[in-house]
Amino acid sequence: MPTSLPRELTRPVMVGSVQIGGGAPVVVQSMTCTPTSDTEATLDQIRALADGGCDVVRVTLPNRAAIDSFKAICDASPVPIIADIHFDYRLAIAAVDAGAAKLRINPGNIGSWEKVDAVIDAAGAAGAAIRIGVNAGSLEEDLASRDDLTQPEKLVASSLRFVEHFEARGFKDIVLSAKAHSVPTTIETYRALSRELPHIPLHIGVTEAGTVQQGTIKSAVGLGVLLAEGIGDTLRVSLTADPTEEPPVAWGILQCLGIRRRGPELVSCPTCGRTQVDLIPIAQEVEKRLRTCEKPISVAVMGCVVNGPGEASDADVGVACGKGSALLFKHGQPVRKIPESQIADALMEEIEKL
Ligand code: SF4
Repeated sequence: MPTSLPRELTRPVMVGSVQIGGGAPVVVQSMTCTPTSDTEATLDQIRALADGGCDVVRVTLPNRAAIDSFKAICDASPVPIIADIHFDYRLAIAAVDAGAAKLRINPGNIGSWEKVDAVIDAAGAAGAAIRIGVNAGSLEEDLASRDDLTQPEKLVASSLRFVEHFEARGFKDIVLSAKAHSVPTTIETYRALSRELPHIPLHIGVTEAGTVQQGTIKSAVGLGVLLAEGIGDTLRVSLTADPTEEPPVAWGILQCLGIRRRGPELVSCPTCGRTQVDLIPIAQEVEKRLRTCEKPISVAVMGCVVNGPGEASDADVGVACGKGSALLFKHGQPVRKIPESQIADALMEEIEKL
């Protein structure tokens, strides 16, 4: 679905077969949490993330012992793999050799410009992209100690330093992130990056955002503001949870803004003193069953005749409930009356036929 929002036009960067930036749809990504040395468990999680809507998946390569497994993962993965590397530049080079389509490094913790250059050259030779991942928690000492700079200014200064170095070395396949756990810092930082480096695709995210509820709120607010301003080419929602919880939130944010659409949209009312069916479990059941549906449809589950018939007839399929029953609508037309116990089944039956 084309975006209805103005988007900044950044340079296109290919991550395997997936384009980030340059007007491509905003790319959804997440990261595995299984030991990389456990090839099958990691591949299972990658497949689950891909099924959940991840376009690319990040996998850590923590040590040399995991290289063979990492290679097997790259070979069998249904989506391009990004290698997450810290500290050891030789692992970054090994990851590229093993088939990583992109590296995520923080050049500040690689050790020296010579080692960073060795990584840049290896990625360049292999056609792999690099995300420069600056993080508020691991800024270089000379910037972290500056009292005259705000946190966003430090993050931007660090980012500019690295991007300039990569470009001076002739490497252009750069994606940039500069993450913080604070939503205002995240917004201010990415606004500045988008002004200072308008050509660089931005990976946006609120890092260490917390558990499902808090992380969803922080990500929706932080990423929502940025995306609404046209900032952000790929995103990760970071949750302290099973990673498969992340893509539905990412897609929810994109869907709310009309930027990308995947699967159905559920419209349901909050219920009130007028409701005469047990609507909440019905809406939850419908939501659960819709998770495996990929049709770009709208489904309404409404509690009464106040807003029910209007919303249900605006949706592709919907119900407006009454006392112990509901009127089923399809494409704006009332179809039949159904008893309360069959509402979820009847909605799913109609959705199957669409
Ligand atoms: S649709 Fe009816 S039941 Fe639902 S919140 Fe509105 S008035 Fe209440």
